[in-house]
Amino acid sequence: MAEPRDRASEQLKHWQSSRVGKNVDCLTTGAGQPVGDKLNIITAGPRGPLLVQDSVFLDEMAHFDHERIPERVVHAKGAGAFGFFEVTHDITRYCKAKLFQQIGKRTSVSVRFSTVGGESGSADTVRDPRGFACKFYTEDGNWDLVGNNTPIFFLRDPFLFPSFIHTQKRNPQTHLKDADMTWDFFSLCPESLHQVSFLFSDRGIPDGFRHMNGYGSHTFKMVNDRKEAMYCKFHFKTNQGIRNLTTETANRLASEDPDYGIRDLYNAIATGNYPSWTLYIQVMSFQEAQMHRWNPFDVTKIWPHKEFPLIPVGQLVLNKNPVNYFTDVEQLAFDPSNMPPGIEPSPDKMLQGRLFSYPDTHRHRLGTNYLQLPVNCPFKCRVANYQRDGPMCSTDNQGGAPNYYPNSFSAPETQPVVLEHCLAVTNDVARYNSSDDDDYSQVTAFYQNVLNADERLRLCENLASQLKDAQIFIQNRMAQLLTKVHPDYGAQVCSMLEVYNSRCPQKAVIKTYTRHPSDRSISTEKANL
Ligand code: NDP
Repeated sequence: MAEPRDRASEQLKHWQSSRVGKNVDCLTTGAGQPVGDKLNIITAGPRGPLLVQDSVFLDEMAHFDHERIPERVVHAKGAGAFGFFEVTHDITRYCKAKLFQQIGKRTSVSVRFSTVGGESGSADTVRDPRGFACKFYTEDGNWDLVGNNTPIFFLRDPFLFPSFIHTQKRNPQTHLKDADMTWDFFSLCPESLHQVSFLFSDRGIPDGFRHMNGYGSHTFKMVNDRKEAMYCKFHFKTNQGIRNLTTETANRLASEDPDYGIRDLYNAIATGNYPSWTLYIQVMSFQEAQMHRWNPFDVTKIWPHKEFPLIPVGQLVLNKNPVNYFTDVEQLAFDPSNMPPGIEPSPDKMLQGRLFSYPDTHRHRLGTNYLQLPVNCPFKCRVANYQRDGPMCSTDNQGGAPNYYPNSFSAPETQPVVLEHCLAVTNDVARYNSSDDDDYSQVTAFYQNVLNADERLRLCENLASQLKDAQIFIQNRMAQLLTKVHPDYGAQVCSMLEVYNSRCPQKAVIKTYTRHPSDRSISTEKANL
């Protein structure tokens, strides 16, 4: 007997049953004219050429020719869903944002999960960070918390971001993923070690999107109604429990069901098995931030839980699938600069870089008026401003209201009460070298204290199985960094590489390095290795 089909496979059947008792729609052109024949184009005689007067065909073909929009440069493959956020704990002493106003308050959300480096047709089960982006539709405008399934990132300076992503994409000549590009970059950027170590640990391949945590990753600022500010971090902990795929299972699924993550999320929601996460914050005073041993605005570092304990806030629940993937997910646009009063950016350089980059890319991908699209529109408030026109304006364009400010005609007025928190900054303007002499101790804590012996072994195996494809001098440089994290980390990876390299005639036998590299200066060693 055939296996029962899942809810995702039955979608068309369900759609059809939702139409029972209703008249079949009349087929029309895009402009609404009824169509008489959808199977045969107009030709001069039964075997003759087609006529340009067949506007029904031209309308269909021309729309098809234009139906793809630019793919997201990163996070191209993803799944989306809708639901709500409900406050369970009072954090108004830290934050005045209206969504946290009272216990029990619910705010509508949309969420998009994604992989990072692959194209929109790539497999969901690759070893890659997962995007975890949440849009809260609040009465004070949308709040987009645009993070990942890791509390940290590969870089702390956004200047390096385009280069980093190029190393994760394709070689400009071969159009292939390139291990030299990937590992050359990582081994020249010791700040990436923390995230690289998470990535090659068991949590580097989550089992779908429901069994992973989400993090705002950056440090943000929260402001209360007394204008007092604290720095904070956001953590979504999965209520489904952490579950990961082994490399072998992930590889099998990549060919058998490359859309495994999308399917799993869709089916869970369609069968009423709604995934949820508990939102926590960590808070740090300005004084603590000044004294802290690590730069609290460095997104390659976490804030230790013991010093900055997790404070529960509420529940994120996803209970509605997209009705149409393109309108609800492909056009869904997250922007870290979307923050309602009460939530503000910290000086985190990566966050500051993203504040510009995200809306910039949406204007390219979706157009100037992308915030008018239903899924992006801040529907819980009324948009009133002096922006006008642009391609595909789909509102009344604010009618006859004045389009300049200041004006004398009772048009939208500012509200000083929502002015941003005032932060004093006095310093020399310069390009500061943001390299940090402690890119290692948190990675050491992760390797030594968080992972058990089996997990450490798998981390080394996973990492060596990809690092083996890079040239020897790059392998060596990476091994030096791992040795600096923990001698055992470097030694295990080196011995695994030795085995791989001994099977590859072009590669000399790798030596375990015991000395410590001095961060970026090691790039000069390239010629000697
Ligand atoms: P704690 O012992 O208080 O917390 C350890 C954290 O590690 C938990 O959040 C746990 O998540 C998470 N974790 C466990 N296994 C993995 C894995 N394979 N990949 C990623 N995260 C994992 O430690 P500290 O706060 O003192 O931090 C120690 C180290 O733990 C850090 O240097 C960092 O590497 C790592 N870490 C810390 C986090 C933080 O925000 N403080 C968050 C994530 C990792 P869970 O509770 O869901 O099991």
